[in-house]
Amino acid sequence: MHPIDAEGTPERLWRGWGALEALPTLDLSGAARAVVVAPHPDDETLGFGGGIALMAAQGTDVTIVAVTDGEGSHPGSNVLTRAGLVAARAGERGRALSSLGARGVDIERLGIPDGQVAAHEGELAERLADLCAETDLCVAPWEGDLHPDHEATGRAARAAVRDRDTRLLSYPVWMWHWARPGDDAVPWSRAYRIDLTPEVVHLKESALGAFVTQVSPLGGLPEDRAVLTPDMLAHFSRDHEVVFQ
Ligand SMILES: [Zn+2]
Repeated sequence: MHPIDAEGTPERLWRGWGALEALPTLDLSGAARAVVVAPHPDDETLGFGGGIALMAAQGTDVTIVAVTDGEGSHPGSNVLTRAGLVAARAGERGRALSSLGARGVDIERLGIPDGQVAAHEGELAERLADLCAETDLCVAPWEGDLHPDHEATGRAARAAVRDRDTRLLSYPVWMWHWARPGDDAVPWSRAYRIDLTPEVVHLKESALGAFVTQVSPLGGLPEDRAVLTPDMLAHFSRDHEVVFQ
């Protein structure tokens, strides 16, 4: 079984592991322009929603890059077609960004097919190089996340900022599900925490609730089940976010 499909690590194990509390903190206040790259609509909020809220509040010019439209989240569903998912998930992302105080951010939709980012990795790296030019910060998924679209997006972002002044931050999403505290597969020595105020934690919780097609079943059949279970969502209600630098 693929680790993402296996039973995940309970959030109480992460909360009971003191090392997350002890990570060095990262300050986002210096960034004037930032790009946040999301393989699917919701990844920007799961992995870096608190960071988006903090940057929006301080006036950072933020662009969200939507690599795919997330049309592949429910293959086989008779409730929502792929086109229906595209429309629904775009609306959900808009409401989530509004909840984060980032209503006016630019959203660049690249339209790469969901599930096939690796096959478009070179093209994606070129697009990201253009989009990240003259930005201070490029925030992208961690290339070790074990989801193929996340890993390909992370590799493309790293290629895009190579030999540039743009700082790359990599956010994990599925890692919190499949990894264990202290896991050797995780580059803990490059991990930093972004501290979130209680208000920002609350905004992020509201934003995640906007992704109705992901956090709730579309219907009663197995193909309509929620992608983001309560156990998975529990990893994203912490008072900090973790990025690798
Ligand atoms: Zn994703």
